[in-house]
Amino acid sequence: MTDVKTAVAPASDRFDRPLKDLRVSVTDRCNFRCVYCMPKTVFNKDYKFLPKSELLTFEEIERMVQASAELGVTKIRLTGGEPLVRRDLEQLISKIRNVAGITDVSMTTNASLLTRDRARSLRDAGLQRLNVSLDAMDDETFMRVNDVDVTVQTVLDGIQHAADAKFDSVKVNMVVKKGLNDHSILPMARFFHGTGQILRFIEFMDVGNSNAWDLSHVTTSQEIADLINAEMPIAPAKANYRGEVAKRWEYLDGGGEIGIISSVSDPFCGDCSRARLSATGSIYTCLFASSGHDMRSVLRSGDVDAVRDALSKLWSVRGDRYSETRTQVSVIRPKVEMSFIGG
Ligand code: SAM
Ligand code: SF4
Ligand code: SF4
Repeated sequence: MTDVKTAVAPASDRFDRPLKDLRVSVTDRCNFRCVYCMPKTVFNKDYKFLPKSELLTFEEIERMVQASAELGVTKIRLTGGEPLVRRDLEQLISKIRNVAGITDVSMTTNASLLTRDRARSLRDAGLQRLNVSLDAMDDETFMRVNDVDVTVQTVLDGIQHAADAKFDSVKVNMVVKKGLNDHSILPMARFFHGTGQILRFIEFMDVGNSNAWDLSHVTTSQEIADLINAEMPIAPAKANYRGEVAKRWEYLDGGGEIGIISSVSDPFCGDCSRARLSATGSIYTCLFASSGHDMRSVLRSGDVDAVRDALSKLWSVRGDRYSETRTQVSVIRPKVEMSFIGG
């Protein structure tokens, strides 16, 4: 491992928010068609996914990670699309783990391709934590969400393989969309209660332009907490660190904890320290941005100092706080798709 360059000042934006996390989308493709993310009406056989030549290479991603580590980033999350459809991901993970300053490497996945061997090879390559997305406990609802007939058991097997591979943590994320899968909140809570796997509920968000979002489809954090509390009493717990996106709740019977991410009803822009790198090499300083900042040419030039300077410059003028202003924004503008930059 090389030393982090200490002469470089950490990046800080217009609201004094540091740059701590980088989410890296390794592909825009996915084997699911979740109705709230990649609906088939848009992501069909005519949809033009990126050709391989447009994707950043692992070396280019490594350069971006090096540059961001010099500005204070310590956490890297691999995402997509579905990260496991990108070949040889283990090579990228090893490269990232060797970058000085990076202390946490995680991945968000639908786990449908997480075989026992794959889980072990990802762990061996240095992946520390996994977030698995699962939106229901019954096949009928889950298949209505993923729209490609993948069963709940397939994902539960992936979660078990992850547990067996002894990742530092395996969390389960459930997006709740009212009328689609809100009836699965309690079955999910019951299933993961006492397992040590932390279940986190995510409010359905208005990311992208394809998912026909409407406020009436949002089951709020408070509604989720009340529902669970009525059957399995919970109490709020302290955040693990500043900027933790999920509010923690502990079961009073010692059955562990859950998290609730209230991106819509109680936004957390004030502590947002995340940048997102698209699979094509654009940096997005907000999940709801209309456009990214193209870094591909500078990444392809091979000059890490130039990448760092460009990133530092754009972070220093960042003023994003979309979720806090969502209800005041009257002009509808295009937003980047979640499957393009990852969650
Ligand atoms: N394919 C992987 C997966 O599903 O875990 C990684 C990429 S996916 C875009 C990352 C996360 O974003 C998932 O947990 C997914 O459920 C969440 N997500 C996608 N669209 C969303 C939306 N409209 N609102 C809230 N969360 C969303
Ligand atoms: Fe694919 Fe993940 Fe989007 Fe579902 S949420 S369509 S699994 S990228
Ligand atoms: Fe961060 Fe943008 Fe989400 Fe606010 S809306 S928390 S600035 S990504």
